[in-house]
Parts: sequence; C-alpha cells; structure tokens
Amino acid sequence: MEYNITRKERDCIVAIHDSSGFPLRLFNIAEILNIKRPTAYELIKRLESKEIIERKNGVIYLTPYGNTIYSEIIMAHRTLEVMLTKSGVNSERACEQIEKIDYLMDDTSIQKLFISLGNPQTCPHGKPVKSN
Ligand SMILES: [Zn+2]
Repeated sequence: MEYNITRKERDCIVAIHDSSGFPLRLFNIAEILNIKRPTAYELIKRLESKEIIERKNGVIYLTPYGNTIYSEIIMAHRTLEVMLTKSGVNSERACEQIEKIDYLMDDTSIQKLFISLGNPQTCPHGKPVKSN
C-alpha cells in the first residue's frame, strides 16, 4: 500500500514508535523533530485526522493503522539498505539516503525486492528487516 505522508510525518511516526513506551507529548515531538511547537501541533493534528496517531491525556500513541505504516516504512528502509550496501554503498550513507524515500515506496515492490535479495534477516545495522 502507498500512504500519502510527508517526510515530517514519517519522522514523527518513527519517533513515536522508537520512544518504546516513553510517553511522548507535543513538546517532546517538537524537540525530537527540531520544529517549533505550533508546527508540531499542526503535524500532530494532521496525523490525528489521518487516524495514524491518537492522544490520550496529552500522550501521543500510534494507532494500529499507524503501526502498520511504521512496519512498512521500516521494512522498506531496511530492505533498501541491504540492496545499497550489497552494491558497495557504506551503511551510514545508505541509511541517510533511504530516509528520504522509504516512506514513499509501494509495499508490493518492496516485498519483491526483499525476495530477490534472498530474504535478508537483518539490515546492515543488525536490525530485523521484518519487524513483526
Ligand atoms: Zn537505517
């Protein structure tokens, strides 16, 4: 599936997931993404209206739909990392390049790429390509 999300929305989804249980509020998001609070507020409102996140008592969570998007972004990210590093690109450079496109990829194409790469278990940083 392709999702209509922006780079900032992508970074926000990843930040929420990676906080692994640490309760994130609006000001945390602003800090992590290095944006002003009113900008963070707009971003959060947009993600809420797309039903990607929800707020409970000011704490921001991914919805199940948000978690699905996260998993697809991460799988695209790590599969593309494997592809680039196999081609000789160093892993830091690969990571930095792929952050620009991982959230735009179509999942069906990524699944095909994953298989053609021989079902890689981990990305160059040792993290599982399939997160679930
Ligand atoms: Zn990476």
